[in-house]
Amino acid sequence: MNDPKQTPAMKQFFRFKEQHPDCVLLFRMGDFYELFFDDAELVAGQLGLTLTQRTGGVPLAGVPHHQLDTYLRKLVALGHRVAIADQIQDPKDAKGVVDRAVTQVVTPGTLVDDGLLEGAAASRLAAVHFTESGDASAASIAVVDASTGELTLLDAESGSIADALAGRCVGEVLYAETATGEAPPRVRRVIESLGAHGTGRAAWHFRRDESLEMLRSQFGVSTLEGFGLTDADPAAHAAGAAIRYLRETQAIDDDAARSRPGSFAASTLAHLRPPKRETTDSRCVIDAVSLRSLEIEQTIREGTTIGSLLGLFLGKAGAGGCRTAMGKRLVRDWLCRPACDIAAIESRHARVAALTEDRRFSRELGDALAPVQDIARIAGRVALGRCSPRDVVGLGRSVAAAGPIAELLETTPAFAETTGRITAAQAQAGPVADRIAAECVDEPPAHLRDGGVIRDGIDAELDEARTLRTDASAWLASYQARVATELGLPGIKVGYNKVFGYYVELSAAQAANAKATIDGAGLIRKQTLKNAERFITPELKDFEEKVLRAEGRSLERERELFGALVRFVAERLAALLELADALAEIDAMLAFADRAAKFGWTRPAMTESRVLHIDEGRHPVLEETLAGDFVANGVELGGAHAGLSLITGPNMAGKSTYIRQVALIALLAHAGSFVPAASATVGLCDRIFTRVGADDALHRGQSTFMVEMIETANILNHATDSSLVILDEIGRGTSTLDGLSLAWAIAETLAGTDDSPGPRTLFATHYHELTDLDERLPGRVANLHVTVREWTPKGSDGAPGEPEIVFLHRVAPGRADQSYGIQVARLAGVPKAVTERAKQVLDSLAVQHGPKATPVATAPRPAPQLSLFTELLPHPAVDRLKEVNLNECSPMAAFELLRELRAMVDED
Ligand code: ADP
Repeated sequence: MNDPKQTPAMKQFFRFKEQHPDCVLLFRMGDFYELFFDDAELVAGQLGLTLTQRTGGVPLAGVPHHQLDTYLRKLVALGHRVAIADQIQDPKDAKGVVDRAVTQVVTPGTLVDDGLLEGAAASRLAAVHFTESGDASAASIAVVDASTGELTLLDAESGSIADALAGRCVGEVLYAETATGEAPPRVRRVIESLGAHGTGRAAWHFRRDESLEMLRSQFGVSTLEGFGLTDADPAAHAAGAAIRYLRETQAIDDDAARSRPGSFAASTLAHLRPPKRETTDSRCVIDAVSLRSLEIEQTIREGTTIGSLLGLFLGKAGAGGCRTAMGKRLVRDWLCRPACDIAAIESRHARVAALTEDRRFSRELGDALAPVQDIARIAGRVALGRCSPRDVVGLGRSVAAAGPIAELLETTPAFAETTGRITAAQAQAGPVADRIAAECVDEPPAHLRDGGVIRDGIDAELDEARTLRTDASAWLASYQARVATELGLPGIKVGYNKVFGYYVELSAAQAANAKATIDGAGLIRKQTLKNAERFITPELKDFEEKVLRAEGRSLERERELFGALVRFVAERLAALLELADALAEIDAMLAFADRAAKFGWTRPAMTESRVLHIDEGRHPVLEETLAGDFVANGVELGGAHAGLSLITGPNMAGKSTYIRQVALIALLAHAGSFVPAASATVGLCDRIFTRVGADDALHRGQSTFMVEMIETANILNHATDSSLVILDEIGRGTSTLDGLSLAWAIAETLAGTDDSPGPRTLFATHYHELTDLDERLPGRVANLHVTVREWTPKGSDGAPGEPEIVFLHRVAPGRADQSYGIQVARLAGVPKAVTERAKQVLDSLAVQHGPKATPVATAPRPAPQLSLFTELLPHPAVDRLKEVNLNECSPMAAFELLRELRAMVDED
């Protein structure tokens, strides 16, 4: 027996495996994609496939070809890279083994097929190139979306690559391998923190000459200057490597792969847009930790979009949700990377205002947007030669919808620029809609392979081939009548099945009776069923061949016509993508406006100055969940007010909610949305930092306190006087004294000095001692507290019961008077014996240490605790104490000294 590993098909398999060693290989055989050897063993269990043995014991598992997308989705979600080996020759034409080629490599960062992509999220690839100059190490990054062709170039310090990539839906990171074929450690850290897939490529992919050549040939230019890039720009290295990778995974340069049967257009990267450089100046930067803790894209606990800020705009259309997938992706981008340019922000606000003020206009615009599909991604599939008939018909409808949209916008000044963009794009793209509508049926099939896409009357050749097929039934009817008469067999019937083609059929009894007639007429027996006999005749066979030829011809012709149509569309990609951008913006504006109208959000005033004023602000997510029960609160930071506010109050009072709501309002304003407040003035923020209690950082192998300090260090090192900083409970993960001291020093630093102001900061803390800062740093630090009401209900016997607290959730000036920890514990259901005992302990501690803090308005300030602050705070009493020589101090003098010290402290 031949070696099962040496069959021609297996030799092809091994060749592809060698070319794509890091991929699971799906090998097309007949109606299945087969997996062999390790691949089969590895994924059969993961995909729930039956593992069998091919001849010679080769492990084998297969997936039906029409379910490819379903299995690809699962494989990619499991983190596999998948190479697809297709038949590139019609098996009928094959002399020996049918030719095959790898036509596509599916990877997490280069998805383009509709079935594999999520509409509301992008799927991007980030190529990272390190540049070293002196000691500093920086990275140039190219972020590319293979499905829509966006190509963005960024720079980042090598330590903040993950921050630069946060919120960009990066599924895969491309890097230059080290000499040993590994990922450099700094890349590994990025991959891990993004939860992305890492893909190494030979270092020469990132080399200057190769990269520049790749970029020039991709964009058909001799220099990159038109894109604002010099040849020396390190970003070109990353962009070149990314494009090379896309060409490789989409098999762009593989002529064999492109000639597969059924393909109707060349695969190109014509949808790739010229590289756009993004600088941090134009954006309000929100790092990965802040995006997470503000729950912008998903909630921390459930990991769902519902409950996040983004979730507010993805819901149902009309209830504040986007109508198109393009709009959803744009809102995500705007929320994760808000603008930091007053003109750009105000232009968005003006458009939202126009839609909020005129709800009828808004509704009409929403209705006009309803037929619009994902133009950007369809354009990508058109370029790659992988669009379906439904894609193309959907594209035609979407482009046609732009006309009425432009008409609706025409008279609204805020949309003048958008209207101009749409009209210009429409002039180019309009013929696409017309031609598609004219040539394609209204409800096309999902695949081209069975035909039925092109209308009748478009092409004479197609019509002729189709007529033959339609005429077949008439011919067969007359043929049946003729043989019935000629042979005197009235029961004879003509039929068709896939295996035998056309046949005539007689019942078993008739066939037995008419044996002589049958033989005499030259009927050839083809199939015996239980009750019937089937025959073919030479005349029927001739006819069948003619019909099949016509059918083949009609399919072939449809493919040619569809291919020509797709090429026509492909020549207008730039206009289509421009239209996609403009429509996505309108959709995002509508989502902002719907929310604003429904929840009474207002237009924020933007200013260059360092202020943040919010009147009656609400938390954008909680105001909906809590409906009328949400208590609105304002804020005043910067300008005539202190730049730093300390917020105290019992647990559960609403501190976190308050400080997050302020950050979210500032963020929404920068994103171009209205804000949940009665009014707001927002001074531009270059960055918004948020650090809240490290809840689940332990999985990263770092202690909670370490994580807290890393995050705080990041803020202290990067916050400027234009930043907004939100801190929740710093210093919790260490001993009280350490924690308090750190919190104190951090607050002092963030408060800045008169000459060099710090960022606008909200600092929620349970360290009541910090509230002294408002007097030590007057004008720069203010105290706020979240109010509670204490009351003592009557017990059943009429005697006063245990004091209870009611959370009022209202933020007021001044410090909180106490922690109410024991009351909160009681509310939470901690057994009475424990809370009673805790109260005893508290009372005895209070006797030892004195009360911690008291409200400014109601009680005198307690004496500062020397032991605590000797290291921290200069104080004349401390200096005096240091001067004393105890060896020369009589008891009387000592007593005198004590009196003096006490007086000094009391004066303070
Ligand atoms: P803290 O940070 O002070 O412990 P949280 O901000 O976590 O308190 O708030 C605790 C709970 O109080 C929240 O889950 C929310 O249900 C409620 N809450 C907070 N702020 C408000 C508010 N302004 N209006 C109504 N309820 C609020």
